[in-house]
Amino acid sequence: MVPPLADTLKVHIIGAGMGGMGCALALAKAGFKQINVWEAAPALGEVGAGINIPPNLARILDGWGVLPIVRSEGVDLTKANVLDCSTDEILSTVRYEDYMEKDYGYPFMTCHRAALQRALVQGAEATGVVKLHLGQYITEYDFDETRFQVKDKDSQSTQWVEADVILAADGIKSRARAVMLMRKGEIDEVTDTAQAAYRIMVRRSAIKEDPELLPFFTGTQSYRWIGEKRHIIAYPIESGDLFNMSTTQPDRNFVQADTWTASGSKAEMLATFHDFCPRVQKLLNLVPEGDVLEWKLRIHEPLPEWIDNRSALVGDACHPTLPHIAQGAAQAIEDAAALGVLLSKLQTKDDIVKCLRVYQDLRKPRTDWAVLTASANSRGLHSRDKSSRDAEFKAVAKDGMTNPDKMLSRDVHEILFRYDVVAEAEKNYQALFAEY
Ligand SMILES: Cc1cc2nc3c(=O)[nH]c(=O)nc-3n(C[C@H](O)[C@H](O)[C@H](O)COP(=O)(O)OP(=O)(O)OC[C@H]3O[C@@H](n4cnc5c(N)ncnc54)[C@H](O)[C@@H]3O)c2cc1C
Repeated sequence: MVPPLADTLKVHIIGAGMGGMGCALALAKAGFKQINVWEAAPALGEVGAGINIPPNLARILDGWGVLPIVRSEGVDLTKANVLDCSTDEILSTVRYEDYMEKDYGYPFMTCHRAALQRALVQGAEATGVVKLHLGQYITEYDFDETRFQVKDKDSQSTQWVEADVILAADGIKSRARAVMLMRKGEIDEVTDTAQAAYRIMVRRSAIKEDPELLPFFTGTQSYRWIGEKRHIIAYPIESGDLFNMSTTQPDRNFVQADTWTASGSKAEMLATFHDFCPRVQKLLNLVPEGDVLEWKLRIHEPLPEWIDNRSALVGDACHPTLPHIAQGAAQAIEDAAALGVLLSKLQTKDDIVKCLRVYQDLRKPRTDWAVLTASANSRGLHSRDKSSRDAEFKAVAKDGMTNPDKMLSRDVHEILFRYDVVAEAEKNYQALFAEY
């Protein structure tokens, strides 16, 4: 059914990342015609590295018809392993192939972030109604009047743009969030984890068919090597042409926070993981010099509110989540899919504020839970007491439902992967609207 406000509702989306392009695609698929996306970057290129596509995200992409684009460049993981960092001994293997698709309808996939973004952009472009404005930086918001100021990066000229609805998906360093919190007299509560992360990749051509490393590329498994205060998680992407690794370690360099593009030192990275097993050492040594990214990991406490008048935050702007349960993109795109359903129910523009409140009520409990679960997971992984840690992992085999690594725990999978955000929004919107 065509939404009542399909032709007239002017939706302006800030940020062409996962949440922003997800919103554009969700609204275009729903039938909305006036959709603008404003993105600071001059081009949408190959930035980033591996990203996870769990079943709750795959279900949404499938509904929008863009899953095949992601899948053609991704990898369906069949197993996920947790290993001791120094001995390389497997502590736990979760056989995704036995239940993921059977129970949740989709395999657990990985791909390059650029492939996911490309799929969303191509899907949005194919609808013919999404206008993407690149090289446009949002400098100011006026939430009372639902308008924002855009600066053109080339000409440096500025203009104010008026909207019926602003969806601010401007990422972990969100300017929209800062303005909203300031207006409400609140602060963004951030806890320094004292941890940092490296993001690194090795291309298959670099291993020269080394038989010890080849299975990382030709196989379809993920690996998490854990040790005291540190771990490395790794998986293939780009149909096995790249092996993606991301690490967690004590932040000794006081690196920049919340950034995806700051360089780190390869020598320091090698020193940090010098006691990891030889297979891992070989991989780390093959990382091209200059291709090490490093940033500080911080916990952003759940925000009290995501909306201000007719504007709402989306994705990392309102619930940045540590990478330890691999739900960052999935939760941002779930937000987008929920907004696609809820804005379609609007009968009149007078109800926009109510509609955004319903969005917040529907989404916030789930994303708050994801934020807290991801934060808790790193504590379990970096235990100092190796023997009790190993005993906990060994116990997994008997029970299957719980795993000390929450990313692999079936009870967590039940909550995350069975969830169908579109069905939940359809089911609950009337009851939620009735509360306002
Ligand atoms: C450059 C980059 C690389 C990343 N690499 C990875 C990765 O390798 N693996 C991974 O798991 N996650 C990565 N992420 C994060 C991941 O995309 C997000 O955690 C998640 O997908 C949530 O998406 P989001 O849309 O909320 O935020 P993001 O995907 O971060 O998108 C936010 C967008 O808003 C734009 N923006 C910000 N401020 C403004 C402004 N003032 N005006 C206009 N536009 C603005 C940004 O340029 C960005 O395109 C990366 C993010 C970025 C920005």
